[in-house]
Amino acid sequence: MKPWYQEGLRFKCTGCGQCCTGSPGYVWVSPDEAEAMAKRLNIPLEEFIAKYTRRIGNRVSLIERKVGKNYDCVFLDGKRCTVYEDRPKQCRTYPWWKENISSSKDWKEEGVRCEGINHPDAPLISLDEIKKNLSD
Ligand code: SF4
Ligand code: SF4
Repeated sequence: MKPWYQEGLRFKCTGCGQCCTGSPGYVWVSPDEAEAMAKRLNIPLEEFIAKYTRRIGNRVSLIERKVGKNYDCVFLDGKRCTVYEDRPKQCRTYPWWKENISSSKDWKEEGVRCEGINHPDAPLISLDEIKKNLSD
Protein backbone atom coordinates (compact mmCIF):
# COMPACT_ATOMS: atom_id res chain seq x y z
CA MET A 1 0.00 0.00 0.00
CA LYS A 2 1.29 3.44 -0.89
CA PRO A 3 1.80 5.84 2.01
CA TRP A 4 -0.47 8.85 2.39
CA TYR A 5 2.55 11.10 1.72
CA GLN A 6 3.45 9.49 -1.61
CA GLU A 7 3.33 12.89 -3.34
CA GLY A 8 5.90 14.21 -0.82
CA LEU A 9 5.68 16.55 2.17
CA ARG A 10 6.58 20.18 2.65
CA PHE A 11 9.34 20.92 5.14
CA LYS A 12 12.10 23.45 5.62
CA CYS A 13 14.05 23.85 8.84
CA THR A 14 13.98 27.50 9.94
CA GLY A 15 16.45 26.93 12.76
CA CYS A 16 13.89 28.04 15.35
CA GLY A 17 15.27 25.55 17.90
CA GLN A 18 11.83 24.47 19.10
CA CYS A 19 12.60 20.76 18.60
CA CYS A 20 15.41 21.09 21.17
CA THR A 21 13.22 22.49 23.92
CA GLY A 22 9.72 22.27 25.38
CA SER A 23 8.40 19.62 27.69
CA PRO A 24 10.66 17.00 29.30
CA GLY A 25 11.70 14.20 26.96
CA TYR A 26 14.55 11.99 25.90
CA VAL A 27 17.31 12.40 23.35
CA TRP A 28 18.74 8.91 23.05
CA VAL A 29 22.47 8.57 22.57
CA SER A 30 24.34 5.51 21.31
CA PRO A 31 27.88 4.72 22.53
CA ASP A 32 29.32 5.87 19.17
CA GLU A 33 27.37 9.13 19.33
CA ALA A 34 28.53 9.78 22.90
CA GLU A 35 32.10 9.21 21.82
CA ALA A 36 31.78 11.58 18.86
CA MET A 37 30.27 14.33 21.02
CA ALA A 38 32.91 13.88 23.72
CA LYS A 39 35.57 14.21 21.05
CA ARG A 40 33.94 17.35 19.69
CA LEU A 41 33.90 18.85 23.18
CA ASN A 42 37.45 17.69 23.74
CA ILE A 43 36.68 15.86 26.98
CA PRO A 44 37.05 12.21 28.02
CA LEU A 45 34.04 9.98 27.33
CA GLU A 46 33.59 9.30 31.09
CA GLU A 47 33.30 13.03 31.75
CA PHE A 48 30.80 13.44 28.92
CA ILE A 49 28.65 10.61 30.27
CA ALA A 50 28.75 11.97 33.84
CA LYS A 51 28.09 15.60 32.90
CA TYR A 52 25.65 15.45 30.02
CA THR A 53 23.74 12.19 30.15
CA ARG A 54 21.44 10.13 32.35
CA ARG A 55 20.71 6.44 32.26
CA ILE A 56 17.10 5.38 31.66
CA GLY A 57 16.78 1.60 31.97
CA ASN A 58 19.43 0.23 29.64
CA ARG A 59 19.54 3.36 27.48
CA VAL A 60 21.29 6.71 27.76
CA SER A 61 19.69 10.09 27.15
CA LEU A 62 21.07 13.62 27.09
CA ILE A 63 20.03 15.70 30.09
CA GLU A 64 17.96 18.88 29.96
CA ARG A 65 18.08 22.27 31.65
CA LYS A 66 14.96 23.77 33.13
CA VAL A 67 14.57 27.24 31.65
CA GLY A 68 11.39 28.92 32.87
CA LYS A 69 8.60 26.56 31.90
CA ASN A 70 10.72 24.86 29.24
CA TYR A 71 13.24 22.06 29.29
CA ASP A 72 16.14 22.84 26.95
CA CYS A 73 18.50 20.18 25.71
CA VAL A 74 21.78 20.59 27.56
CA PHE A 75 23.46 21.45 24.24
CA LEU A 76 21.02 24.14 23.17
CA ASP A 77 22.57 27.60 23.25
CA GLY A 78 19.94 30.15 22.29
CA LYS A 79 18.61 28.56 19.11
CA ARG A 80 21.87 26.84 18.27
CA CYS A 81 23.00 23.26 18.84
CA THR A 82 26.57 23.35 20.14
CA VAL A 83 27.29 19.79 18.97
CA TYR A 84 25.43 20.17 15.66
CA GLU A 85 27.83 18.22 13.41
CA ASP A 86 27.80 15.31 15.86
CA ARG A 87 24.21 15.55 17.08
CA PRO A 88 22.52 12.20 17.71
CA LYS A 89 20.59 10.39 15.00
CA GLN A 90 17.33 11.19 16.77
CA CYS A 91 18.03 14.88 16.12
CA ARG A 92 19.32 14.33 12.59
CA THR A 93 16.20 12.49 11.52
CA TYR A 94 13.66 14.93 12.98
CA PRO A 95 10.89 15.52 11.87
CA TRP A 96 11.00 12.28 9.85
CA TRP A 97 9.95 10.06 12.72
CA LYS A 98 7.41 7.31 12.09
CA GLU A 99 5.04 8.74 14.69
CA ASN A 100 5.11 12.15 12.96
CA ILE A 101 4.21 10.87 9.53
CA SER A 102 1.96 7.94 10.35
CA SER A 103 -1.04 10.05 9.28
CA SER A 104 -1.67 13.50 7.86
CA LYS A 105 -3.22 14.39 11.23
CA ASP A 106 0.04 13.46 13.04
CA TRP A 107 2.07 15.49 10.53
CA LYS A 108 -0.19 18.50 10.98
CA GLU A 109 -0.13 18.17 14.75
CA GLU A 110 3.68 18.02 14.79
CA GLY A 111 3.55 21.24 12.79
CA VAL A 112 2.36 23.02 15.93
CA ARG A 113 5.77 22.32 17.46
CA CYS A 114 7.88 22.56 14.30
CA GLU A 115 7.23 25.64 12.17
CA GLY A 116 9.21 24.09 9.29
CA ILE A 117 6.42 21.59 8.68
CA ASN A 118 4.22 22.94 5.88
CA HIS A 119 6.12 26.23 6.09
CA PRO A 120 5.05 28.62 3.27
CA ASP A 121 8.66 28.62 1.92
CA ALA A 122 9.15 24.87 2.33
CA PRO A 123 10.07 22.80 -0.73
CA LEU A 124 8.31 19.54 -1.46
CA ILE A 125 10.39 16.68 -0.04
CA SER A 126 9.94 13.63 -2.24
CA LEU A 127 8.86 10.21 -1.07
CA ASP A 128 12.35 8.84 -1.80
CA GLU A 129 13.99 11.51 0.28
CA ILE A 130 11.54 11.00 3.14
CA LYS A 131 12.28 7.26 3.10
CA LYS A 132 16.01 7.99 3.18
CA ASN A 133 15.64 10.25 6.21
CA LEU A 134 13.14 8.12 8.08
CA SER A 135 14.45 7.01 11.48
CA ASP A 136 14.36 3.31 12.46
S1 SF4 B 1 11.38 22.82 15.24
FE1 SF4 B 1 11.48 22.35 13.04
S2 SF4 B 1 11.98 24.29 12.04
FE2 SF4 B 1 12.48 24.51 14.21
S3 SF4 B 1 14.66 23.93 14.37
FE3 SF4 B 1 13.46 22.08 14.75
S4 SF4 B 1 13.29 21.07 12.75
FE4 SF4 B 1 13.92 23.19 12.38
S1 SF4 C 1 21.75 17.56 20.63
FE1 SF4 C 1 21.52 19.48 19.51
S2 SF4 C 1 19.96 19.03 17.94
FE2 SF4 C 1 19.81 17.43 19.51
S3 SF4 C 1 18.23 18.15 20.94
FE3 SF4 C 1 20.24 18.80 21.72
S4 SF4 C 1 20.51 20.88 20.95
FE4 SF4 C 1 18.91 19.91 19.72
